[in-house]
Amino acid sequence: MLPVDLPDAVRDALLAPLVDHHCHGVRRDDLSRAQFELLISESRTPAPPGTTHFDTPLGAAIRRWCAPVLDLEPHVAPAVYLGRRQELGAGEVNRRLLQASGIVAFLVDTGLEAPELLSTAEMGRHGGAAADEIVRLEQIEQDIAETAPVAVDYMDSLGEELAARAARAVGLKSIIAYRCGLDFDPSRPSRGSVIAAANRRLSDPRERLVDPILLRHLLWTAVDVARDRALPIQFHTGYGDTDLDLSRADPAQMTGFIRALQPLGVPVVLLHCYPFHRQAAYLSAVFPHVYVDVGLALTHTAGGSARILDELLELVPFHKQLFSSDCYGVAEGCHLGAVYFRRGMAAALARRIDSGEWNAADAARVAHMAGSGNARRVYRL
Ligand SMILES: [Zn+2]
Repeated sequence: MLPVDLPDAVRDALLAPLVDHHCHGVRRDDLSRAQFELLISESRTPAPPGTTHFDTPLGAAIRRWCAPVLDLEPHVAPAVYLGRRQELGAGEVNRRLLQASGIVAFLVDTGLEAPELLSTAEMGRHGGAAADEIVRLEQIEQDIAETAPVAVDYMDSLGEELAARAARAVGLKSIIAYRCGLDFDPSRPSRGSVIAAANRRLSDPRERLVDPILLRHLLWTAVDVARDRALPIQFHTGYGDTDLDLSRADPAQMTGFIRALQPLGVPVVLLHCYPFHRQAAYLSAVFPHVYVDVGLALTHTAGGSARILDELLELVPFHKQLFSSDCYGVAEGCHLGAVYFRRGMAAALARRIDSGEWNAADAARVAHMAGSGNARRVYRL
């Protein structure tokens, strides 16, 4: 699976079990071609008539790397691949692909929970791995908004529910990038402004939250909980679906908030980051509590993903880089996340060893840190 020859110690470190610090549940049901294609694209729409989402870097990667896991030759046609998927059934396909990834722990973002997605515990069982929960802040806020009668209850319940959910989780996650962009005012909003905004919110609680005052209140409430429980907070940044304004998802735009968190010691984990992974690497280099990951980007850029890892490695401190698959809906994302992480790291490490920049022990240590060691330390696994 690795594209280059490496000293044994480095090879072993790259093929060692991974900790996937950000993923979602995969579908438990058998999928039609149309359903499958929607899940391998962030576009949320079918490919234009007469074309297919298999004609993407990710589509080609599925045919190349996932087909053999289903006992097919590499590069089989999409219809053959999907036919075999149907024949084996979703349960068997999920077990094979999750286990082929060599992941020993899944940290599952439960913000998209739906009956057709495997739960956190099921992801662990199907993958033969440990599984823990990452709590999505905006999902909790939505639940509270729909049940709180008045603004004061809203504020109290939000804090209580976040604390209760955090007690069973290993981290929190914010999608404020999707809701108001990362260029938000980093200060904690006043109680008066929050009560006024909550009253507006409760008049139409089924709408999803986009009010920057309440989003900041949610985030700062989460910071208090995270600080108490020594939990990291993940942030969606960069690449995502069409709900996102990419221009407002550059993590450098939240520098003020990152600075405000520094004295509190709450770790900030920047997810995805692409195409702002160089900005993210910079932030992780200059702020002691910032961590970075290019999961999702590696899966979707597939054959081109090694360049992204290379650009990240220009500056990221080795104790700040994390691995994730960010699989959602289909287990192919999980296997491919692991494949491209290992291949990209292998190429990058081989070049550094060949040029005499690092020795094999350095390279093995970096592979171990990025693959599992950093996640175990940050999430206290
Ligand atoms: Zn995700």
